[in-house]
Amino acid sequence: SCKGSWSSDSSDSVISTDSSSNLYKVVLIGDNGVGKSALASIFAGAADSMGSDCELFGGEVCERTVTVDGESATITLLDTWDPQDESKWTQDQCMHTGDAYLIVYSITDRASFEKASQLNIQLRRDRQSEDVPIILVGNKCDLMRCRQVSVSEGRAGAVVFDCKFIETSAAMQHNVWDTFHGIVRQLRLRRDSEEA
Ligand code: GDP
Ligand code: MG
Repeated sequence: SCKGSWSSDSSDSVISTDSSSNLYKVVLIGDNGVGKSALASIFAGAADSMGSDCELFGGEVCERTVTVDGESATITLLDTWDPQDESKWTQDQCMHTGDAYLIVYSITDRASFEKASQLNIQLRRDRQSEDVPIILVGNKCDLMRCRQVSVSEGRAGAVVFDCKFIETSAAMQHNVWDTFHGIVRQLRLRRDSEEA
């Protein structure tokens, strides 16, 4: 759910981001069961090549410093989206709190792809004046025999929504760090264009 972690005092400091720093809030959104938590646990796990620790805030919020292209960035990853949440307020929080988004669907679940499109539309509408970096993430690409969404459909969706696209497998740890590094690169591109 979107509740909990960030309504507490301790996480308030975590989610207040200075836009001029290398501190970025990245939010995972997408249907239930697509693998958001699996991706988040890889981020939180020991697989980081830098060996830096991940600070956990309530299990759904994890902060860690990564090195991308020789420059360090601190990502606060929020895995707090609950598509079943009845209270619209908490979903609104998710939609407004992120510096960048990973919109996740499962390549084995067409409904989750359609949900991802809806979320993309909603995000672009809610954050109209901002050029919020988004990566459309087609997870579970290890399950090729159960594929319901083709690579070209995913890619075409990303063109429509003016975002990046990647297929991942949390199970095989395929393209997962590429995704986190990719979102940092997107955030930097935006930062650098704002500074220019
Ligand atoms: P969430 O609801 O989006 O947080 O999804 P979860 O991370 O809880 O994953 C839902 C289920 O899909 C779990 O049983 C995971 O083990 C499984 N899962 C997640 N990612 C992958 C993946 O890349 N490949 C496969 N085969 N299963 C996955
Ligand atoms: Mg989850």
